[in-house]
Amino acid sequence: MTRSPVWHPFTQHGLEEPVPLVDRAEGAILWTRDGRRVIDAISSWWVTTHGHCHPRIVAAIAEQAGRLDQLIFAGWTHEPAERLAAELTALLPLPYVFFSDSGSTAVEVALKMALGFWANRGEPRHRILVLEHSYHGDTIGAMSVGARGVFNRAYAPLLFDVGTIPFPAEGGEQRTLDALEAACRNAPAAFLVEPLLLGAGGMLMYPPWVLAEMRAICEAHGVLFLADEVMTGWGRTGTLLACEQAAVVPDVLCLAKGLTGGAIPLAVTLASEAIYDAHYAQDRAKTFYHSSSYTANPIACAAARANLAIWRDEPVAERIAALGAAQAAARERLAGVPGIAGVRQMGTVLALDYEAGSDRGYLSTLGPRLMAFFREGDLLLRPLGNTVYAMPPYAITTDDLGRVHAAMAAAL
Ligand SMILES: *Cc1c(COP(=O)(O)O)cnc(C)c1O
Repeated sequence: MTRSPVWHPFTQHGLEEPVPLVDRAEGAILWTRDGRRVIDAISSWWVTTHGHCHPRIVAAIAEQAGRLDQLIFAGWTHEPAERLAAELTALLPLPYVFFSDSGSTAVEVALKMALGFWANRGEPRHRILVLEHSYHGDTIGAMSVGARGVFNRAYAPLLFDVGTIPFPAEGGEQRTLDALEAACRNAPAAFLVEPLLLGAGGMLMYPPWVLAEMRAICEAHGVLFLADEVMTGWGRTGTLLACEQAAVVPDVLCLAKGLTGGAIPLAVTLASEAIYDAHYAQDRAKTFYHSSSYTANPIACAAARANLAIWRDEPVAERIAALGAAQAAARERLAGVPGIAGVRQMGTVLALDYEAGSDRGYLSTLGPRLMAFFREGDLLLRPLGNTVYAMPPYAITTDDLGRVHAAMAAAL
């Protein structure tokens, strides 16, 4: 067999596990070259919100691609970006939009905005606080603010030091708040947090009141509050933003994944008036120095505008509520299955842990065996160690969702 020249992410090619070839997709379904109908139960790594190949997003991409494909965004502008920014600021509680291309870059931009805010005020602060078990992306800066582990051990000497606040596990919420309060007394620059749901850290959930308290503590100490809603945004937790459930308005908000409905890469970092103002000056040294070649690519912006139109014109909130109710019902059923523990659900996300004895963590041998089991059953599910979760596109049918739940119950 000739080896493919493609080097896949998070894939150990030395294990020679099968890599299915997918030709097309529609709704929650992927069709493989060999004719299999596969249920995409994780929204192709959390990006596909409404469903694959939504006709309005596909049409917007085609239309924009024939009109203006790309434009330098430093000193020049275009209508798809201007309109998208106006629509985003009308919908979300922050007034300024900075574009980039991925969740990781949206987080890097958020960190640079926070450090720039303090530097431009002549009060340099550099320390970043994060929550235990966080994930914010795979670039060096984003890895630095994420949990340390097998994923980043090789690069650890390059990662900058951060203050880690314990995860607010049930019963330990006050310990988290006390630790945050104590850390805020040492004048850190910012606290970066995944609101309500920590994704890659194991689909860990905590309640809105804790998020609201964390926000209040930061506010009381003048510490910037940066919300990474790259995964939680666009309805995943039941509301458009997770922050909404806690009535929290962050100083900086990162969005990516579902911003284009999951069709094409685009990210935004939204900033408060104060953060924008700290960079607004006649002094060029106070400029926000960040760009990537494809900043605010017009085709991606057109796709994002189509996504927003779908949110306005289609019953997206009803679909999310129905999916959430089905996931909640499955939570009740799965909670009684032997070998399954910690069944939890928030909005459209359902997660559980298989009792794995000492064979736990990301390198657990259970994960690859589970993945093979699901793959053989024509399901795209990707365990995080002994944790399995379903986070399907909102277009998934009741039958297909039932098959996902049945496989989760039967896997052990
Ligand atoms: C996926 C993710 C990121 C990184 O986004 P990429 O587009 O993969 O770079 C950052 N933060 C959170 C919370 C994520 O889930």
